[in-house]
Amino acid sequence: MKNDFINYLSLYKELYGDEIYLNKLEKNINSKKTSNKLKLNAYLDSIKDCMKCSLGESRNKIVLGMGDPDADIVFVGEAPGKEEDIQGLPFVGRSGKLLDKMLDSINLSREKVYILNVLKCRPPENRDPLPSEIEICEQYLKKQLSIISPKLVVSLGRISAMTLLKTKESLKDLRNKKLSYEGIDFLVTYHPAALLRNPNFKKYAWEDFKIIRDNYINGKTK
Ligand code: URA
Repeated sequence: MKNDFINYLSLYKELYGDEIYLNKLEKNINSKKTSNKLKLNAYLDSIKDCMKCSLGESRNKIVLGMGDPDADIVFVGEAPGKEEDIQGLPFVGRSGKLLDKMLDSINLSREKVYILNVLKCRPPENRDPLPSEIEICEQYLKKQLSIISPKLVVSLGRISAMTLLKTKESLKDLRNKKLSYEGIDFLVTYHPAALLRNPNFKKYAWEDFKIIRDNYINGKTK
C-alpha cells in the first residue's frame, strides 16, 4: 500500500513536477462552481426589477429561482402562487411541500437541484399565464438554463414543456418520452398541484421520479 502510494507520487512528480494533479482538478471544479454562481447571481440581479409586463405592477416579490447554480437537475414549474409571491421563493406553498417530499423520496433536496418557473411573477388570482407573458419571461428562463447548464431539465406540468419545446402535445403524450432541449435531456412529469387535485396520478409521478433517480443522480447520465 505504502509502495503503491510512493509509486503514484513518483509518477505524478515525473508528469507534473511539484504540482499534484488532484489539487489542480479540484481547483478547476471549484472555480467553475464559483463562476456559475457569480454569473447566475449577476444575471438575476440584472432582471430582478423587471417591469416588462403588467405582472411587474401586481407582484409583491419577484420569484427568480433557488438552489444550486451548478445543479445537474433543474425543475421548471409554471408561475409563482400566493405564498411564493409573499416569500419571493419558488414552490413554498402546498405544491412545494409535496415537491419537497417527492425530492426526498429519491434522496434529493431543493439545495441539491435548481427550481424555477416559466413566469417570474404571480398572475393575479393564479390565472393561467398569458402567451404574451410567457413570451417575455421565456428569455429569462432560457438564460438561467444556459448558465446552470444541467444534465436534465424536468418540466413540472405542461406549461414549461410547451414553452421550452414549442409543443402542443398533451402531458400524457409527453411523459415517458426521451426528449431534449438544446442538447439537454428533458423529462415531463405532473405538476405537484395536479397531484394534489388527483392523487391517483401520484403513481405515475413516482415512475418518473424513479427514472430521475436511476439515471441522473450520483453523477449518472444516460
Ligand atoms: N406552482 C408553480 O408552478 N410554481 C411555484 O413556484 C408554485 C406553485
